[in-house]
Amino acid sequence: MPELQDRFGWHGTTVSLGNWFPILAVYDEEGWNTDPYFPYGESFYSLTGDFDVLFTTDRSQVVAATGTQVGKTIFHKDLATYHFRAQNVRDFAMELDPNYHVRQTSVGDVKINVYYTDRQAKYADAMLEAGRGSIALFSEKFGKYPWPELDIVSMEGWFGGMEYPQLIMMSLNDNRTQEWVKSVTAHEIGHQWFYGIIGNNEYDEPWLDESFATFAAALYMNDLNGLTTEPTKEEYYHVSSPVSTFTQHANEGGINAYRQMIYGYGSRTLNELRMELGDDTFYRAMHAWFQAKKFGVATTRDFIRIMQQTSGRDLHDFFVSHRVYVNDQE
Ligand SMILES: [Zn+2]
Repeated sequence: MPELQDRFGWHGTTVSLGNWFPILAVYDEEGWNTDPYFPYGESFYSLTGDFDVLFTTDRSQVVAATGTQVGKTIFHKDLATYHFRAQNVRDFAMELDPNYHVRQTSVGDVKINVYYTDRQAKYADAMLEAGRGSIALFSEKFGKYPWPELDIVSMEGWFGGMEYPQLIMMSLNDNRTQEWVKSVTAHEIGHQWFYGIIGNNEYDEPWLDESFATFAAALYMNDLNGLTTEPTKEEYYHVSSPVSTFTQHANEGGINAYRQMIYGYGSRTLNELRMELGDDTFYRAMHAWFQAKKFGVATTRDFIRIMQQTSGRDLHDFFVSHRVYVNDQE
């Protein structure tokens, strides 16, 4: 493993096992999806499956993993063997550190575990609070969290946070504010719904998970009015653009445009759709979206169709005026 403060790598005493497990490329209407790796945001795409994992490591490690532990840890001399099982997940991630403390809470029948070292202890309350609050809120607004457990795991990285099925990595350093920690926790938990449950091709339609997770975090932070990002002046960047549109213009600020359109203006677009339809209709449509696409793969075309069907309205003009185009993927 590389020594790296990243999703896959080790740093200090922490081992991050994100995207370590080889998963099959998806074969769909486009054929095999073998799009290149993109380091900003995410560009992953995988189908759901069931994992049954036996993992042996040093006895001293504290292990957080996707899924639920089956039975007790088996110790043999200096080693420990764990058995995990996870159903309907798109990937299997782990995080290890012998210095982790663990705090647990629950919301309904969902168990939440927060992992942190002494240095990260000052953020444990914020992660627990945002964990409980966002699972309860998103279950109510979008559809019920479908797995028995969620791990919120502290680590150090160059990014803010990263979502994996039933496990989120929180990249904490000494300078994070409590509000930042709550907001990023809610964003990454939002991805349990948007990418984890309702899947998408993150390379072709990154807005389908990033704009939605950003909207979810603002909803949890009670800050929907703060979603005010303007669209880019360059009209060739769309909310529905694939990652390649932004990388083609990397030298003219394509990466900033990616953040502005996919995180900023995309989440504002969802909030304006909420205001256009009214809360009742909008969240009813989000539940319909959840039911239709749970554990599957969704597209922009599907989203527009379900919003129109549930609301009984023609939303063509709304989406076009917000630069959401179905033909970006055709
Ligand atoms: Zn995100």
